[in-house]
Amino acid sequence: MSPNVNWAPLDRELEHWAELRTVATFWWRDDDAVRYTPALNRLLTISAEFELPMALAVIPSRARAELAACLGSYHQVSVLQHGYAHRNHAPAGVKATEFDMHRPRHRIIDELVCGRERIGRLFPQQVLPILVPPWNRIDHSWLAELPRVGLTGLSTFRARERAEAVPGLRQVNCHVDLIDWRGARGFVGWAKALAEIVAHLQGRRSARLDANEPTGLLTHHLRHDVDCWRFLEAFLGRIREHPAVRWVDAREAMWAA
Ligand SMILES: [Zn+2]
Repeated sequence: MSPNVNWAPLDRELEHWAELRTVATFWWRDDDAVRYTPALNRLLTISAEFELPMALAVIPSRARAELAACLGSYHQVSVLQHGYAHRNHAPAGVKATEFDMHRPRHRIIDELVCGRERIGRLFPQQVLPILVPPWNRIDHSWLAELPRVGLTGLSTFRARERAEAVPGLRQVNCHVDLIDWRGARGFVGWAKALAEIVAHLQGRRSARLDANEPTGLLTHHLRHDVDCWRFLEAFLGRIREHPAVRWVDAREAMWAA
């Protein structure tokens, strides 16, 4: 069973949405898929059992054919482009990025195109033209390039500033990350995870944030410890039947509102 979890703030917040007769939309993104592993199997099973759409950010240059074979039977799963190789090209002392300012720009664009073609071939039924930059990091100067190579959606982390990052490029981010990257790289904790979800919902409801941006849950199946899995199932179960909650797939999250 879950530890002593205080669900009250989340319950209360969703009550506010219900009282206002509004619907809190959610979406789910999981990063770093390359192979069919026991952890991925567990993730896919959860999304199937809860009947929830899930967007899997796949690393194009490393994705295996076995992943495509396995995903084909999960119709609730869409595939997003997770950069190209998930390799850090930032100089020492600078935050990790694949979109550095040191390599020739055309080489980075070529990688993007190559990655887009590769996942298009591997996942023709499930791929969406959405870029998830590794480490959720891409300098603004790159954004106008994305629609030119057919990428018309972008997903990073934290509440978006606007629905269209640049002309022709929609943006929908994630807002709660289950992994504590700066600490022990395990589960971030029940209190923090729930607080981040509630904070985003409150921001939307009060119009301090963009009310139309669905609240995004970010998972990394390869990194999940026992507590991550426990939280995931408890949280999804908790809000599953709530009348003020609706889960949307990545396509709807990105292009519907
Ligand atoms: Zn990643």
